Amino acid sequence: MSKPPATHARLQALAARDGELLINDVPLGRLAARVGRTPFYAYDRAALTARVKQLRGVLPERVSLHYAIKANPMPAVVAHMRPLVEGFDVASHREMLVALDSGMPAHEISFAGPAKQESELRAAVAAGICVNCESETELERLGAISRELAVPARVALRVNPSFELKGSGMKMSGSPRQFGIDAVRVPAAIARLGELGLDFDGLHIFCGSQNLSADSIVEANRLTVELAVELMAQAQRRPRFLNIGGGYGIPYFPGERPLDVAAVGAALRTTLDAHAAAMESIEIVLELGRYLVGEAGYYVARVSDIKESQGHTFVMVDGGLHHHLANSGNFGQVLRKNYPVVIGNRLDAAKTTQVSIVGPLCTPLDLVADRIDAPPPGIGDLVVVLQSGAYGYTASPHLFLSHPPPLEVLV
Ligand SMILES: *Cc1c(COP(=O)(O)O)cnc(C)c1O
Repeated sequence: MSKPPATHARLQALAARDGELLINDVPLGRLAARVGRTPFYAYDRAALTARVKQLRGVLPERVSLHYAIKANPMPAVVAHMRPLVEGFDVASHREMLVALDSGMPAHEISFAGPAKQESELRAAVAAGICVNCESETELERLGAISRELAVPARVALRVNPSFELKGSGMKMSGSPRQFGIDAVRVPAAIARLGELGLDFDGLHIFCGSQNLSADSIVEANRLTVELAVELMAQAQRRPRFLNIGGGYGIPYFPGERPLDVAAVGAALRTTLDAHAAAMESIEIVLELGRYLVGEAGYYVARVSDIKESQGHTFVMVDGGLHHHLANSGNFGQVLRKNYPVVIGNRLDAAKTTQVSIVGPLCTPLDLVADRIDAPPPGIGDLVVVLQSGAYGYTASPHLFLSHPPPLEVLV
């Protein structure tokens, strides 16, 4: 077996001209001037479009693609995704409003998440979006709200299956969980839907996130479809859709390889074909966040100082942990590893030195990159964190130390 490469892998190669990073063909320095100040996040709209197209090329035609907007809820990004996908998944009332603002039809929006508040459920029913119900209490509340508003609530049941998605960065099933209703209780919940006069809109089985193993996703998809077939048989009811989750990951760290989505798509086709009769006329939904937007995003900060300490070079930039928590290693990682970080205006230069790049916070946790090989840097250079389109801006503690928040642009 060949050893994985020690470098960072991306699906899309970096574009550059004269050693300067291009973001959707705009040179980085010119983009920084246009934005007006650093730090900022930039998202490449051509890369977003290309990613969806690439995925469509390998998925079975019958699969509907949904964008889980919590990965990147910037309204301009959501608006860009609107015509590219069949639906949106939202995780809060605010995300629901952003999704509706984009013009996505309400019946193509679903709302998942534990501890949904009664006001959120009421808003979802009023809006006509589908609620992915995560508890029996929620089910009763939806019945009551539906009667109160005289609006038929659209309800899908989120199932906590007995299996897990192996090798996920974050597991969300297969053991006691705050997510979904345990599979053994689902037939009774489906029956209760009927008693409450609610439609059985869908089944939702989401097992995990940030997975790079095609084998694991293929197996989870197979188990998901088998479980759905079994639950439908037990309940003697058929939903309008089956949401099979997603969890497709992107490579962040040295040695990681891009997910083989062609293998996942081919196996999913086989699985759906094997259950063609049971799955007939049921919409199959794949919901993805990170995979659609992660690689299209860049976090850009400017070098303000460079200093030596005991033989070590520190490059100080105007952004860091408070803007990009995941890059600092403090968003779920056990051992900190470097994201792919480049000096965006020196891509051609030989990496003849080693530097640590740090932000302005008064804590050693504020590391942008730890001892990376780099070209000799200069003050004013633009440091770029790649793979930053998902769980960046909104997953970071902007208020910590009271620096201004970063800007965001769609390029
Ligand atoms: C967060 C979430 C997603 C998106 O996960 P990614 O790993 O970003 O693709 C999809 N579905 C549900 C229910 C989620 O909570």
